[in-house]
Amino acid sequence: MNDIKDKLKLIKENNLDREMKYLSKPQDKFTTIDGKDALLMSSNNYLGLCNNEEVKVASIEAINKYGLGSGGSRLTTGSYDLHKKLEEEISKFKNVEASLIFNTGYMANVGVISAICDENYYIFSDELNHASIIDGCRLSKAKAIVYKHNDVSDLEAKIRSNNPKFGMIVTDSVFSMDGDIAKLPEIIEIGKKYNLLTLVDDAHATGVIGKTGRGSSEYFNCKPDIIIGTLSKAIGSEGGFVCADKYIIDYLKNKARSFIFSTSLSPAVINGAIKSLNIIDTNPKLVENLHKNIDYMCEGLKNIGFNINSESPIIPILIGKEELALEFSKILLGEGVYIPAIRYPTVKRGEAILRVTIMATHDFKDLDFALDKIKILNIN
Ligand code: PMP
Repeated sequence: MNDIKDKLKLIKENNLDREMKYLSKPQDKFTTIDGKDALLMSSNNYLGLCNNEEVKVASIEAINKYGLGSGGSRLTTGSYDLHKKLEEEISKFKNVEASLIFNTGYMANVGVISAICDENYYIFSDELNHASIIDGCRLSKAKAIVYKHNDVSDLEAKIRSNNPKFGMIVTDSVFSMDGDIAKLPEIIEIGKKYNLLTLVDDAHATGVIGKTGRGSSEYFNCKPDIIIGTLSKAIGSEGGFVCADKYIIDYLKNKARSFIFSTSLSPAVINGAIKSLNIIDTNPKLVENLHKNIDYMCEGLKNIGFNINSESPIIPILIGKEELALEFSKILLGEGVYIPAIRYPTVKRGEAILRVTIMATHDFKDLDFALDKIKILNIN
């Protein structure tokens, strides 16, 4: 008996095996995937910044000035003036006291949650939170209690029945697969009422929601205790970050193991991210265009029979069976549109979706093309 082979066989039998698709061109709205030219409707590069000319120049300038690798962790020799500058820019962008960069959003969630929450803590976590939040909870040794998706009554009931002395409420702001937005004002209110910290993951909100793309705090005019974000989606670069009051950031510098024990980000991705934040700041049209496209796509989907609404660029089309979602995605790629099938464990079993994502760089003609191809599938 070979345990790994047996497990792999089971994954394949359930249509849950994963395969990489390879891009051979930049991640613009038109790209080449596995040798096939396609309209890209799958990227988290929501503002098109990962192939922006100014961003690329900024990255190249950083390589010319500093070289490629950072040579060490931040607490040894890997801290450049650029890292500090990016943290200052993030703090300004998010209107917070202090920030700290991690190498990925995943590492930020895992590091922050496990550094703050110990065995004396309760963590109340939305059932659709991202895997990095779940893993942070597991690593923390805290008692994790999962509440129903975006259900503040269930959240409050679970807090009451556990009566925690120390605790944290954790939620995505924009949910990564459903694209809906957490009820943050109510969640923060509950946090204050029960003296719990609130941590909000703005990975899909940064550069996306709020009038100028500042994220969930701008969208709701609210202030959670801790904001996590990533530089890898709308910012078009790489890296994660945490924003909070300075004393929390000072604590995390000492305690967040995924920050302490990993070589820091390359100056190239740091300087690219600084440029992206500057572009978002000075070009409000980018975020506006993204939302015009989101509205247009939702309207188009309604016209072809889907009951879909989204305020974020993530628009899920529920398919159900894993096999069918894979089949639809394959047909769409054959027709020149790439929309991936998302399956368990990213979503629940039997609730596979086609995850459509919109970019500011799409135009209405592109979206019409995608809608025509989706219509052919006769999903409804
Ligand atoms: N949080 C959420 C909600 C995400 O969707 C993701 C990425 N899929 C992450 C965190 C992790 O960010 P990164 O890709 O930078 O590791």
